[in-house]
Amino acid sequence: MRHNGRPVILASRLTPNLLSLSDQGGCALVACPDCGCWRSVKRGMVTAHRGPDVPGADAWPAEFRPSPPRCPGSGQRVRIDVTFEQWRKELAEACFEAGKRRPTRVLPRPKPPVAPSVMQLAAR
Ligand SMILES: [Zn+2]
Repeated sequence: MRHNGRPVILASRLTPNLLSLSDQGGCALVACPDCGCWRSVKRGMVTAHRGPDVPGADAWPAEFRPSPPRCPGSGQRVRIDVTFEQWRKELAEACFEAGKRRPTRVLPRPKPPVAPSVMQLAAR
């Protein structure tokens, strides 16, 4: 598989929620930059995969449906330059930050009165 020609993505530049490393030393997982699907990184590249269905593909019967095209994020070069411990620490910090956020308070507003229709006005 050839790379897609785009510049290399450094794992240290990604947010920790878009990366998944294993302490066993297995292959890393990365969220595809184009479609967001989780894909393994093999030979320094995102493994080849197909993108989302083309619009209108649902109209075809399943046996005749054209297969979706290859995702342009396939073959994206990714350099894993963080260790499992570094990534895990960053992920824990990010989760802690997200956990501190307060939800916004939703204020219920009264609904505006609905204007009577022309038929209702004529009936009066
Ligand atoms: Zn993709």
